[in-house]
Amino acid sequence: MKINDNFEKLVPNYLFADVARKTNEFAKANPDKEIIRLGIGDVTLPLSNAVVDAMKKGCEDLRYKETFKGYPEYEGYDFVRQAVADYYKSFGVSVDYSEVFISDGAKSDCGNIGDIFSKDNIVLVPDPVYPVYVDANIMSGRKIIYASSSKDNHFLAMPDRNVKADIIYICSPNNPTGAAYNAEQLKAWVNYALENNAVILYDAAYEAFIQDDLPRSIFAIDGARECAIELCSLSKTAGFTGVRCGYTVIPKELSRGGHKLHDMWYRRQATKFNGVSWAVQCGAAAVFGKDGQKQCLENIAYYRQNAKIISDMLDELGIYYTGGKNSPYIWLECPNKMGSWEFFDYLLENAGVVGTPGEGFGECGKNYFRMTSFNSHEKTLEAVQRIKSII
Ligand code: PLP
Repeated sequence: MKINDNFEKLVPNYLFADVARKTNEFAKANPDKEIIRLGIGDVTLPLSNAVVDAMKKGCEDLRYKETFKGYPEYEGYDFVRQAVADYYKSFGVSVDYSEVFISDGAKSDCGNIGDIFSKDNIVLVPDPVYPVYVDANIMSGRKIIYASSSKDNHFLAMPDRNVKADIIYICSPNNPTGAAYNAEQLKAWVNYALENNAVILYDAAYEAFIQDDLPRSIFAIDGARECAIELCSLSKTAGFTGVRCGYTVIPKELSRGGHKLHDMWYRRQATKFNGVSWAVQCGAAAVFGKDGQKQCLENIAYYRQNAKIISDMLDELGIYYTGGKNSPYIWLECPNKMGSWEFFDYLLENAGVVGTPGEGFGECGKNYFRMTSFNSHEKTLEAVQRIKSII
């Protein structure tokens, strides 16, 4: 018996453990100082009433023989898939319900989608980025190359024709930078993928935060149906981080090596996934209903106001940042050329504010810092006052 020794190639990521340890040490040493967490990566507002009511009704269905449900469909119930397709239509993107796969969240799909690709593919991952893309592909033994982003490209890496990649992860709006691609930039990635016979894995987990005139989906771009898969989540859109539901869209046109990737993914899901529970899917469909949309957007508006409080402070202080407008994340350059851990310590010790050091998301994050809009207005305002007084 041999283990999967690719696990030995994983680089330990102690980021959140180190953040928690340092924060706890500070709290112990300063019991009178209230710590404000601007590093929260989870939603804090509760589910909307429309979603909870639909889930309650879904549970009631399970009480009676006539309406009881057993194993769900692997790809999701048709009415939920149709609700997702209608949602796409609401922002001008045409997707057929049969191309939508309901899942237990984007994290699973971001990693599991690799099952349908060869281990020999070269994977291009933006730096900095959500670490799941990297670790999932290391576990599978794929070679990873990075598309560096920096202040020069406003943290929106663009394709390099001299670099050959087979699988390309794009996250827009990005975690951690909050930067979001415009249509022209996404078209350049689509063209690159088509020219190289590559496939784009487009993570749209934060699309609901987009306010500017930017694409909400890779399928808003001509040619994307021949080269892209979209992964999406209800976690940040509707507060489903604990409930667990997301969806992946694979166009029927998307084929490689004579196989439709849609059919391969169906086969993969049918083998390794037994679907999302009835009650959760009832809640998911409600997200896309009239009341659900209104209520979820109210929560997003609340987070957006917090993002604005933080970005207004950075404008005032003249600190470079990305995100904040189309994303719950604000990615700022550490003042006075500080390293990201140095700035973390400085903020904690002098302002009692916790954020996330950028280097936890990749080499390109060394002098950057992530703040999030998931705390309350009151706490965000208080944090901003404290930061202003020490910078
Ligand atoms: N994709 C990105 C870019 C994320 O930041 C996250 C969560 O933080 C996820 C996917 C995970 O989504 P889910 O909760 O649906 O698994």
